Amino acid sequence: MRKEHVAAGAPRDTPPGFPRGVGGKGEGEPPAGGTRRRSAERGLYQLLIELPRPRRLRIGALGRCSLPAGYYVYTGPAQGGLAGRVGRHLRGGGKRHWHIDYLLAAATVRCAITLPGGRVGECAWHARARTLMADVAGAREPVRGFGASDCRCTSHLLYAPRWPLGALLTLLPGG
Ligand SMILES: [Zn+2]
Repeated sequence: MRKEHVAAGAPRDTPPGFPRGVGGKGEGEPPAGGTRRRSAERGLYQLLIELPRPRRLRIGALGRCSLPAGYYVYTGPAQGGLAGRVGRHLRGGGKRHWHIDYLLAAATVRCAITLPGGRVGECAWHARARTLMADVAGAREPVRGFGASDCRCTSHLLYAPRWPLGALLTLLPGG
């Protein structure tokens, strides 16, 4: 079984475990440099995000959404390569393409969890996180359709008003 990679660190920094200078402009685009093999590894990722102030943000085609201050857990697929996609989110900036790009324009990634391989679908992984956070006070899915345009989920974005440390520890694969 492959080891999952967990990275936590300062926002906008590339933490250990994620090669620098990696990241295509869109899914499926190979990165430049010599990290092609690792970057091409597919899988899922979860971003643990802090939004310091309540914001009303335009989330692409979803339009204006009111987002409370607090913490968010986003589950997404990286069909074109985990390192490239997660690295792109950690660096920030760039063209806004996915719903998560609009949120990250105002928020900070505090931690990223990656799950290499294609054995688990993003809907199932999101549902697992939702179950694990069910006991966190105020936890909910604040934006219908966020990251879930092509499935039956309410969204792939969870919210908690306070840092849900206990629940997040159990989010780790194998936790
Ligand atoms: Zn789904």
